[in-house]
Amino acid sequence: MSLTASAFDTLELKDVGRSFGGREALADLNLTIRAGEFIALLGPSGCGKSTALNCLAGLLPLTHGEILIDGKRIDVLPSEKRDFGMVFQNYALFPHLSVAKNVAFGLEVRGVAKAEIKRRVSEAIALVKLEEHAKKLPGQLSGGQQQRVAIARAVVLEPRIVLMDEPLSNLDAKLRLDMRTEIRRLHQSLGLTTVYVTHDQEEALSLADRLVVLREGRVQQIGTPTELHNNPANWHVADFMGYRNLLDMELTEVSGSEARVSGHGLSLAATLAQPAKPGDTVRMAMRPHDLNVVNDHTVTTGRNVFTATVGVVEYQGREFAVEVTTSTGQRLFVHAETAPRVGEEVTLVLDPARALVYQQNLDAGVSEEEREHQELAEVGS
Ligand code: ATP
Repeated sequence: MSLTASAFDTLELKDVGRSFGGREALADLNLTIRAGEFIALLGPSGCGKSTALNCLAGLLPLTHGEILIDGKRIDVLPSEKRDFGMVFQNYALFPHLSVAKNVAFGLEVRGVAKAEIKRRVSEAIALVKLEEHAKKLPGQLSGGQQQRVAIARAVVLEPRIVLMDEPLSNLDAKLRLDMRTEIRRLHQSLGLTTVYVTHDQEEALSLADRLVVLREGRVQQIGTPTELHNNPANWHVADFMGYRNLLDMELTEVSGSEARVSGHGLSLAATLAQPAKPGDTVRMAMRPHDLNVVNDHTVTTGRNVFTATVGVVEYQGREFAVEVTTSTGQRLFVHAETAPRVGEEVTLVLDPARALVYQQNLDAGVSEEEREHQELAEVGS
């Protein structure tokens, strides 16, 4: 494969910020991306993901901070001089040009020699498996195929970095999965540094080497998929990572990281994920998979065992997602190996190691200094 990215070692975003009319859409983004990394910017609608990507692309000027490649500032360069490839949600193809001509367009604009254009275009089209469709117009292709053209058009320019803004959000569920694999395969074979914006945590976890979770324009956590999945930094990240059960409880005992919490008629063993002291009102986060319906009917009491009534049962392939209600009326999302009956009382067991206790106040427990320290540790790792 001769499509290769121009070499660099690191791309640094230093205190990057962008305001609109005095309101900060993005603040203090500090991130060092190593060449070849796949980074996902993740967060709910309006958290600043696209703003961050557009600042990187040069489509939006920064109101604060610097962007550097190998120590040289690039935020002062216009978009076309940054040598980045872009893939958007809406494909943005030329409807009157064939697939091959769409892919060739950027090279023609750059004045690349005809023979080289021909070679690079056919290579890029082969890479996204569209050889049979090269002569077709975009309108004759499916959504997934059009998105592949958009990807070929970005990688044919051999950019230093590829930026993708929700590239799969217009595709149906099956195609999304196929294209996800395709994007990961491309990334593995070309080693292209990629920054990928999505609000879909599963997509981000499956694609990225590292994830950056944003909320209201601020970084909440930067880490590998496993780090974020297993040890969310605060309850907001936990919520976003699929910890669907968030319960406000009173912290009654603390011993090291072991905690006991009570509330909603329950007294449970849990694990401190942020510093807190007895008497604090805390937020406990639990994934449905760590709150299981017990099938063995001999288990009726014990540590972290309690009962609840089944409300809704959803079939999910080999298992069941179940909504239950506790005796005090608290709804919980739990997991079952076999289908319980609606209205039935079931026994639940909670893994104390996976019941994570957080400060309710999102910004408590993580000081600016700790954040910087965390970022430096990540860069050094
Ligand atoms: P989505 O997933 O919905 O695209 P996002 O996380 O990408 O959301 P941004 O588009 O970055 O969010 O927007 C962040 C914030 O900045 C939002 O509150 C948005 O309303 C605001 N914003 C974005 N672009 C502009 C603009 N051109 N003018 C004014 N406000 C803007």
